[in-house]
Amino acid sequence: MRIILLGPPGAGKGTQAKILTEAYGIPQLSTGDILRSAIAQQTPMGLAAKEIMDRGDLVPDEVVNGIVSERLDADDCKPGFILDGFPRTIPQAEALDEMLEEKGMKLDGVVEITADPDVLVERIVNRARETAAASGGAARADDNVDVVRNRLNVYRELTEPLVGYYRDKGLVKSVDGMQSVEEVTAAIRRALHN
Ligand code: AMP
Repeated sequence: MRIILLGPPGAGKGTQAKILTEAYGIPQLSTGDILRSAIAQQTPMGLAAKEIMDRGDLVPDEVVNGIVSERLDADDCKPGFILDGFPRTIPQAEALDEMLEEKGMKLDGVVEITADPDVLVERIVNRARETAAASGGAARADDNVDVVRNRLNVYRELTEPLVGYYRDKGLVKSVDGMQSVEEVTAAIRRALHN
């Protein structure tokens, strides 16, 4: 099973990807997680990406395309994978098409998790507040509202067009992300097996 999870920040892509990796026995490929780990390890790529990510902007396509291409060659991706947070732009989607063709792989589906933008800001800000509280209350969640809004704008402008891109290929399955985690998982599984 080779799938892409598409949806705005806070829609639950990461949560669902983690559940689906268990269900299907395939890895989650999260470019956000890989970049965060590069930042934690202070690699040159991490150092270059940090400022961009802190603003809620996108790191350059070449960087993430390289990460994904390398990751797809790993043995654990042979039975399939769940792409979470990639592609995020049309050029990234085109690069992915080329990579998959070269590697002799084919996508099974693109799951679009839909969500109400107003609820998303609240969800992400609450998540930041909980994380801050858990780590000693250092960060103020309010500081993040502008960044969250920027991430949602970036999604609308650069990533949402991917729904049309993949719809034209007959790959899109839309799922309502405003249900419980369990209901969203069940809906995704039904959509993938249709
Ligand atoms: P995420 O964890 O998927 O929300 O990603 C967190 C941040 O990492 C994003 O706001 C971007 O700055 C960066 N990022 C993750 N994936 C990509 C991607 N495919 N293209 C560009 N930037 C990305």
